[in-house]
Amino acid sequence: MPMHLDSLATGKYTVASLFNAVHVVATIAMPPNRTLSEYIAISNLMGKLIARLFEHMSARDKNSIASANFPFQLISTSISILVGLMFSPTAENLSPVSRAALGFSLTGDRKRKATLMKERRLNLPRLPSIEAREGIQWDPANCAEPEIFAHMGAMYEKLERDTADQSTKCQGEDVWEKLSVCLTLKLEEKKDEYTVPMKGKPLCQYCRELAEKVSKDQSCELLDMAFFDGDSS
Ligand SMILES: [Zn+2]
Repeated sequence: MPMHLDSLATGKYTVASLFNAVHVVATIAMPPNRTLSEYIAISNLMGKLIARLFEHMSARDKNSIASANFPFQLISTSISILVGLMFSPTAENLSPVSRAALGFSLTGDRKRKATLMKERRLNLPRLPSIEAREGIQWDPANCAEPEIFAHMGAMYEKLERDTADQSTKCQGEDVWEKLSVCLTLKLEEKKDEYTVPMKGKPLCQYCRELAEKVSKDQSCELLDMAFFDGDSS
């Protein structure tokens, strides 16, 4: 189902799965100007809800509502959040401003993925410049990160409008700094993990290259909050 999302380069986004639908709802409903910890909590809670739902649906258990043939290719393996922040280190009277976007890795068979990857490349013009490498089993457009990075330009346009409004009200010429933070979580849980935060997934080699390019375009630093957490596969 085609949808319109203002914050994408083409404005066009196809909803072909539950994860695409959650992306649309999260894009429209994500509250602005929250703290980084609140945004991280939102992605963790959303990840936990989805992991639990799919664990139940894919359980090979006679009492489960799902069948043993549940198609695993329809389950996204990761959820990502991108938070864009602007703050003025010198002016105490100016409040930091922030925006966030949630995204998922692609699901579906080869044909559906190919269509969605094409759309991702149009919505993130830096994406086609990431070249496929020998030894890496997935396409650069398959990860969750291209979905969130596609919102970065619109995110900073909104943040710059917010900061300009504040500076006008305070009649100041303050310097604002930008910082982007991303975190990808693995959408899988074992039974004893419901009470602990989800495990982070560091950016893969493709997404590190992509992060460098998109953050350069916005003249900001981009931190991967999962970079201490496990390997990058
Ligand atoms: Zn990646």
